[in-house]
Amino acid sequence: MRLTAPFEIWTAALSLAPALALAVSYPRRPVAALLVAIAAAVSGTALLLASSSQAAAAFIAGIWACLGAMCAYWACRRRAEQFERHKAALEATRVKAAETVKQVAEVRARGAQIEREQRETLALYGTIKSLAEALSWEDMRPKLESAIEQYVGASSYAVYAASSREKAGFRALACRRLEGSPGASWATLERFLQERSARLGQAQAFDTPEAAVLVPVLDGGQTLGCFYARLPRGASAAAFLPKVQAFVEQVAFAFRRVKLFQEVEALSQIDGLTGVYRRGDFDERLQREITRAQTFKTSFGLMLLDIDHFKQLNDRYGHPFGDSVLRRVGEILGASVYDTDFVARYGGEEFVIILPRAEPAGALRKAEAIRKALEAERFPRGFESVQATVSIGIAHFPRDASTGEDLLGRADAAMYQAKSQGRNRVVDCESLRA
Ligand code: GH3
Ligand code: MG
Ligand code: MG
Repeated sequence: MRLTAPFEIWTAALSLAPALALAVSYPRRPVAALLVAIAAAVSGTALLLASSSQAAAAFIAGIWACLGAMCAYWACRRRAEQFERHKAALEATRVKAAETVKQVAEVRARGAQIEREQRETLALYGTIKSLAEALSWEDMRPKLESAIEQYVGASSYAVYAASSREKAGFRALACRRLEGSPGASWATLERFLQERSARLGQAQAFDTPEAAVLVPVLDGGQTLGCFYARLPRGASAAAFLPKVQAFVEQVAFAFRRVKLFQEVEALSQIDGLTGVYRRGDFDERLQREITRAQTFKTSFGLMLLDIDHFKQLNDRYGHPFGDSVLRRVGEILGASVYDTDFVARYGGEEFVIILPRAEPAGALRKAEAIRKALEAERFPRGFESVQATVSIGIAHFPRDASTGEDLLGRADAAMYQAKSQGRNRVVDCESLRA
């Protein structure tokens, strides 16, 4: 076996072409490449084994092998391009599918958010509707509480409403889980604001000593109340503030309405000259207080006050001056008692005060303080200042009587005793028994 002729060398070289095609096309068309490789191997072997007379046949076999290799290479290239195209299309579809999945998740989250907002809005709407029916702070309290818990999502909070009398400050309408917090009572909240030189009329967020927000309930320039909420540890008070402000704005009208209703109601009950309640309201209130004391087994005190020598005062200085004295006495009495006490003009220059839940000793102390305050008061008249004193009779329920009428009779008797003892003094009806 010899490989001398260039022709045979070329034929051998050509027989390597299919192997080259195999290398180029592998691994995309392994079957085609295998066939070409077999053809190349067969033609190569034939060439080596053949005599020179058979070289022509080997050459033709080599040519066929080359053609087969070229076809295989061409087929492979086509398939490879298609494969790349399909691969790119598949990748694009995969990316699109991932995007779609992401979009679906976003839409789902947004849907849940809208649903939540809708629930909150519905709850707020229901609350506002029911708040619109409230005519007193007591009516308002449970409705406000459920609205705060549902809409604001606060569990530690307090709501304060301005008292009808300025000096009494604000009263707590609701206070939940605020132990140890500056918002736990009006006194601590007021002190907290003073220490920080902060104004109640402004919404504010605090981070110390706890994360909390304070939002006033405003009516024009007037502060009708305020809302204080303590946030869970780590929460941002500043981020929470807008939600609370939106809520307070929504419920402010209920504060306005209750206040207006109370003002109108009070106006119809208030004595025009002295600014305290009228006699008719006193009778009603006395009856209510007796029922309450009987139901809850509590007690209360009753004070009857009569201005000493008022007729003389009228005669000496004139009726209008007498009126101004009555007006000022009404103011002093109103300012001397608690918000829960009840002051009324009983007639002419006589006043009555109901002191719910007062003990006899406490009622006596309060009566003495009032007597002293009136004794110290100077009623100006031109360049003069006039002094007036009062005699006070005290009776206690249920200690001294079991009906309103009897109780008043006992207080009246004590008051006349004070007059007969020289006026400007306090007498407890119990001392009359001795
Ligand atoms: P005493 O110390 O015993 O109570 O003497 P008094 O003068 O106060 O007693 P009296 O009850 O006799 O007099 C009450 C007077 O109060 C009579 C009345 O003219 C006067 N008075 C009643 N209502 C008013 C009022 O609305 N304005 C004024 N200026 N005087 C009134
Ligand atoms: Mg009198
Ligand atoms: Mg009098």
